[in-house]
Amino acid sequence: ALIVRHRMRSSSRWARAMAIVRELEEKCGTPDAKLKQVADAMTVEMHAGLASEGGSKLKMLISYVDNLPTGDEEGVYYALDLGGTNFRVLRVELGGKTGGIVSQEFAEASIPPELMVGTSDALFDYIAAELAKFITEEEEKYHPPPGRQRELGFTFSFPVMQTSINSGTLIRWTKGFSINDTVGNDVVAELTKAMHRQGVDVNVTALVNDTIGTLAGGRFSNKDVAIAVIMGTGTNAAYVERAQAIPKWHGPLPKSGEMVINMEWGNFKSSHLPLTEYDHALDAESLNAGEQVFEKLTSGMYLGEILRRVLLRMAEEAAFFGDEVPLKLKIPFVLRTPDMSAMHHDTSSDLKVVSNKLKDIFEVSNTSLKTRRVVVGLCNIIATRGARLAAAGILGVLKKMERDTSTGVVEKTVIAMDGGLYEHYNEYRKCLENTVIDLLGGDSSSTIAFEHSNDGSGIGAALLAASHSQYLEERS
Ligand code: BGC
Ligand code: MG
Repeated sequence: ALIVRHRMRSSSRWARAMAIVRELEEKCGTPDAKLKQVADAMTVEMHAGLASEGGSKLKMLISYVDNLPTGDEEGVYYALDLGGTNFRVLRVELGGKTGGIVSQEFAEASIPPELMVGTSDALFDYIAAELAKFITEEEEKYHPPPGRQRELGFTFSFPVMQTSINSGTLIRWTKGFSINDTVGNDVVAELTKAMHRQGVDVNVTALVNDTIGTLAGGRFSNKDVAIAVIMGTGTNAAYVERAQAIPKWHGPLPKSGEMVINMEWGNFKSSHLPLTEYDHALDAESLNAGEQVFEKLTSGMYLGEILRRVLLRMAEEAAFFGDEVPLKLKIPFVLRTPDMSAMHHDTSSDLKVVSNKLKDIFEVSNTSLKTRRVVVGLCNIIATRGARLAAAGILGVLKKMERDTSTGVVEKTVIAMDGGLYEHYNEYRKCLENTVIDLLGGDSSSTIAFEHSNDGSGIGAALLAASHSQYLEERS
């Protein structure tokens, strides 16, 4: 009788677990019709955000970049790329018309977690110190001509209200940063003050979002690049807009007739988005509740955390990992998206990678093959939803630009892509790209292409620093 009761119990546990999986799958569904609604909503919000300041959840920020690199840029420039858990400093030597990128050097450092939630001065001092160290090392190698002012492009990958090409105030932090005293301040002034404190003299000639840098870097190597999308810790897109289609822009009409727009699409929200109870809870407990809803569904900072929340519920309500709920499973963000990706891509017949990850991260051992298969299935549900929604976002941008092939325009459009999620999570990348092509239909694969713009954002910032060089201007 005891054995029978146990068997009954374990089979009903399994049934309960499967019910949770099925419910998730249903709620995360993204049929094409829904994606088209999401794309249309994106287009509508783009119009609203361009019409007036604060007109939409989409900020549609004016970048002050009205000319993308031509390839004529020349000289040595520094770049500083701050956007996620790492930051990079670069030195880029541009060879002018025929020279291309002559050389590039970089150093990378991680941001200590306490600095992400500390004070503005502490964060900028740390960055400026790393920059100073890098510049000293570089100048020992490549003796710069005396008297030449150092110039730098600052890639700052957070929403900034630009006031010029090289100034702008932080609207809010995202991606786990939360430092109140930076919000509302000019981030170039913060950086410049910190560089003075470190005794290093550098002129910031361009302040750019990573999407803008990626667009600039992408355009430098491919003239058909018109959109840039970051799928990394966070997510965002930038594109080239007609200046006349920006009612909120009251400045002079640029000669090019164009203006690059930083959409800040991570903050997109729509009733068409397939949100689950896990998403609502994740949002409510986040540092930025109610904000970056699209980002929380699609980007690298959150996918693993969504999976953890589903597994926790299955452990609690269906004893998915046995009688005890593994304690580690209760720790927010212990399951990182790279680990989720590794489990999702496990091709071994006994799902050894999944088994090891569950052991290493949650201290759950002896999982059955059946259990591991379910975990892979969950990875697939969550990643597929994210990738398909990101694809819908891209469709929305193409529609706004009238470059969705359904309108009959057959201009080649290359989308410069970057970010760790895009670069390393193959299933995610394939799903995103295939979905865009499917949604566009027809032979769109001949007019729309994706290009991985590796480190484009840092190089792009250096290119923009070059085209906005004050040194060159003063001399000419
Ligand atoms: C930020 C954007 C950035 C994106 C990708 C988002 O959280 O708000 O400014 O472009 O992450 O790094
Ligand atoms: Mg980056």
